[in-house]
Amino acid sequence: MKHANNLNKLPPYLFAQIDAKRDALRAQGIEVISLGIGDPDLPTPTHIVDAMAEAIRDPKNHQYPDYAGSLAYRSACAEWMKRRFGVELDPANEVLALIGSKEGIAHIHTAFVNPGDFVLAPSIGYPVYSGGATLMHANTHFLPMRAESGWLAELDANDIPAEVLSRARILFLGYPNNPTGATATPEYFDEAIAFCREHDLLLVHDNAYSEISFDGYIAPSILERPGAKDVCIEMFSLSKTYNMTGWRIGFACGNPEAIRALGTVKNNLDSGQFTAIQDAAIAALAGPQDCVVEMCALYQRRRDLILDALWAIGVECEAPRATIYVWAKVPQGLTSADFAEKVLTEAHVIVTPGSGYGPDGEGYIRISLTTPDDQLLEAVRRIKETL
Ligand SMILES: *Cc1c(COP(=O)(O)O)cnc(C)c1O
Repeated sequence: MKHANNLNKLPPYLFAQIDAKRDALRAQGIEVISLGIGDPDLPTPTHIVDAMAEAIRDPKNHQYPDYAGSLAYRSACAEWMKRRFGVELDPANEVLALIGSKEGIAHIHTAFVNPGDFVLAPSIGYPVYSGGATLMHANTHFLPMRAESGWLAELDANDIPAEVLSRARILFLGYPNNPTGATATPEYFDEAIAFCREHDLLLVHDNAYSEISFDGYIAPSILERPGAKDVCIEMFSLSKTYNMTGWRIGFACGNPEAIRALGTVKNNLDSGQFTAIQDAAIAALAGPQDCVVEMCALYQRRRDLILDALWAIGVECEAPRATIYVWAKVPQGLTSADFAEKVLTEAHVIVTPGSGYGPDGEGYIRISLTTPDDQLLEAVRRIKETL
């Protein structure tokens, strides 16, 4: 049996070594605490679950869904965008339901990238930006990211080989950023929009963490910026905002041509998300938002506990204003993987090596805030005591 060559080009599972070590520790009866995965530990808010329970009994929902998403769901997305960001969208042509935003991020390549083409992606980022290109027999050019420039991916055409830029189709960005926790300025978004206009690129902005922010910071949509809709689509996810990672629901919105192209790909690949899940998502977007406020307060408290522990042991890190991650500098002389292994061996706590997110992630680790309070406190205690 011969599988496609590009499958071999997908990066190896970088966390395999850590997983093996964790399993060995667990086999010895040692309790390992994971601060590795970014998957909310709290349940989906009750009013959303109740909406699903009702929707699931409606026989209309048992048939094939509207492939693009029900108009009711797309309208709820558009109304939420208007309420939250002041962004006007036509639900029929500028919004598309997604089976989780990962699905849209992975499939946008099919709509825009030919074999041998390039995508431009941040050198530290969500692995699907480049993985999706690999699956299309295309390539990724990584844009440098540095702490000094606030982890904003550098958009300098002079630093990109001409033959790469001429074959580039998509620029991926995502702020608030997983894993660095960085946020973007309006000026940076304007620069990215101008860059994409000049080089005829689709700008895909991944906004999975727009609602999770701290210390009074409120994250923007790139679609707030003038002219954004000419070149840009934005991917939203209900996963982190409403503790709905298991439900698989999100949406793409923005440039109607890009929405149509992604819709065409999806029409040929999937038949849309279960309408009952879309009904539950309407309850999430249109319903009370105090669950989101409470969740941000919880993550902020956990963030401060982790920062306190890291600062106590002399690890350099800044307080992120958004996301569910703390991005911390590895002590001198150790690689990301070394330090993650040391934390696991000595404190029995799993953290993620930054090198797993791309070339410029080396020298950092990512700590996730999605661990229940008692375990988080225990992890903090162990880190302070052993390291
Ligand atoms: C979690 C995450 C997503 C995907 O979320 P879905 O569950 O697929 O909606 C997309 N981008 C980033 C950066 C994420 O962290």
